[in-house]
Parts: sequence; C-alpha cells; structure tokens
Amino acid sequence: MTEEELKQFKAALSITAVANALGVPVVRGRCRCFFPTRHAHGDRTPSVSFSEERGTFRCWVCDDVRGDVISLVQIVKNCSFLEALNWLKETYGFLVPGAKNVVQNRVMAPNASPANAPAPFHTPAQNASLVAKVAVREAALEYQSPEPTKELVSEDERKKIILSFLKMLSPVDKTPAAAYLARRRIYKPIWDKMLLRTITDYGALNNKLKETYDLEVLKYVGLFNEKGNLRYYKHPLFFPYLDAKRRSCYFQARAIDSSVVPKELNLRGTVPYPYNVSVLDQKPGWVYLCEGVIDTLTFLGQNIAAIGIPGVRSFKTEWLPLFKNKSVVLCLDKDEAGRSGTEYLQSVFAHENIRTVVLGEGLENISSSMKEGDDINSWFGGKK
Ligand SMILES: [Zn+2]
Repeated sequence: MTEEELKQFKAALSITAVANALGVPVVRGRCRCFFPTRHAHGDRTPSVSFSEERGTFRCWVCDDVRGDVISLVQIVKNCSFLEALNWLKETYGFLVPGAKNVVQNRVMAPNASPANAPAPFHTPAQNASLVAKVAVREAALEYQSPEPTKELVSEDERKKIILSFLKMLSPVDKTPAAAYLARRRIYKPIWDKMLLRTITDYGALNNKLKETYDLEVLKYVGLFNEKGNLRYYKHPLFFPYLDAKRRSCYFQARAIDSSVVPKELNLRGTVPYPYNVSVLDQKPGWVYLCEGVIDTLTFLGQNIAAIGIPGVRSFKTEWLPLFKNKSVVLCLDKDEAGRSGTEYLQSVFAHENIRTVVLGEGLENISSSMKEGDDINSWFGGKK
C-alpha cells in the first residue's frame, strides 16, 4: 500500500464503526477512556470523544490517548502500527484501494451523514513508498507506542539533565525574547520571578550539550531530535515549570517569530503539574486558571494568583488534590475550544466540590468584557 493509498484507506473508514467493531461502545460520539484508572471514578462520564469528520479520537484527560483510526486499533488491541493496519486491511479488505470490486462507500457510522462520504478513490500512485516508512513516521507523529521504551537513564537522572539544561540558558534581558514579552506587556519583574530563559547562541548550546551528554541520552530525555540536534532552533523562549522550591524538570518553549508553527513546543512526556503550581498552597483563596503560559504571566503581572495549563485537554484529574481549599476562576480563551474546555473543567471541579466561576460570566454586555476570540493577554492589551 502506498502512502496515498493508505490515506485513502483511512479516509474511507468510519472511526465510529471501527470502534464498534473493536467492541468499544461509542454513544453520541463518546466512550469511556481505555485507561479508566487514570480517571476519577473510572471515567464514569466518558472522556474520549470521536470526530467522524476528521477520523480522529482523543481523551480530554490523557495526553497520549488520541490519534486516528490506526492509533485507535493500536491502543485497544495493544499492538504495533503494522499489526493494527493489517487488522484493518483484513476486516475492511473491500475498502483497500486497488482491491477487486472496490466499494466506494464509507463504512457508515450510525447516523453519519452521506455528505461526509469521501471522494472516490484515485488511481494508486505509481511512486510507491514503503508502508513501513509511512508507518514509522505516522506512529511517531500521532501516537507514541504503548510499548515501554528501554529506560536509558533513570527518572531522577532525566530530571537532573533537564535542570542542568535550563541552567545553561540565558536570562531574557536585552534579547529578542524580551521584546516579544514586552509587546505582551509582560515585564522584567515577572521574567525574574518566573526564571524565564532564552537561547542566545543556538550553535554553541547545541555543541555544549553534545560535549556534556551522550547523544542517545539527549534524544531519550527529549531535548534532541532524531537528526541529533537541539529541538529548540525555532523556539528560543523558555518557560520553566517551577515547583514550590523554584526548581524545574519541565518546561515549555515558545517561538517568538509568529510565522513558526507550532507556536509552542512542550518537553516530551507528561506535564507534572500546572504552570506556577506554587500558587496552589492549600490555603483558602481564589486562583485564576488560564490556558497557556502567556495568559498566566499576564495575570501575575497584575498581582493576580494564576496558574496555567498547556491546553484544555492537558488538565489531569490527579492534579485535583493540589486545589484543596481553593476556588477557581476559569479564564479560558473566548472561543469554541475555550467554551467546551470551560464546561469540562466545571464538571471536573464540581465532582470534587471545588467551587468555580467563569471569568466575566454575567458581564457579557459591558463594553470592557472579553470579546469573541480574546484571550487574557489580548484583553489586557497585549499585542500578538
Ligand atoms: Zn483517558
């Protein structure tokens, strides 16, 4: 199967129908997470949602539970990419491009609209590249293999390496990163308080790291890419996730050139706690919960106690005990994703009897309220 054929095959499959064939009951586009123990109450309220249109699924709690129809088979059957693909080919052989008596209809999901049916198959591309090649790339892109990778360094050692990497970085003062932050009305007291850092000489840092650590170790801890270079060539601004002792073993890196996609690169692996976690001090009070680091820093600049989550679906229920004695002001972006995230967080917090209010709710009609598409930073006058 060529890359093009694989794309066609995937497009022809209904992810809901495949889920059902795997014995996963999908009700109104949702099912319970495949890792119920990671959820409060065994994920009684289903957290995994399916998009028939995009052919994808994702768990709103588990970072690693998401992907396309092949990842779905991989997770449910706990198998490799190729095994998953073979299972799909056997089960839906009539949809494999180039197969005899090709049926050009999608395997319809219950209630799926025929308008979603894909265009008819094209002639298979002649410049075939090997499925294995596609397999490696797609697996890396869309889903980290559930098979445990060999532990090259211990978890403690990994944290030490991340910490020492962060110590090699420069303060942002008088760098392009400083100008970027100032445009967003985030100034030096906050740079210092949150230990913001930047790369001033990528080449030198790249070499220094290679001299200090084994290349395989640098790749293993997530600092280096497959080509053997530091990943943050286009993402020179660093936000360390400081703990209560102002130490950090996790960070987010940001591009300061607005044409770079994605804007942010998280360190690989799970987010250990929200950004600015030291605000969650178990003392009674309010905390403002934002989407992303920039919004959090914007609040901190106003002396408002705020924490950040990298994205709505990165909120982890195991963080809930950290919120003991707190009430939460939800300050997600004023857009579709922000609204659905707000709803989700409201239900998660309500479950633990943590009080929430939504920023600006009830004040929609006053002129200073957040407009559609606003985030906290733009609301406070930050420029993109
Ligand atoms: Zn989950």
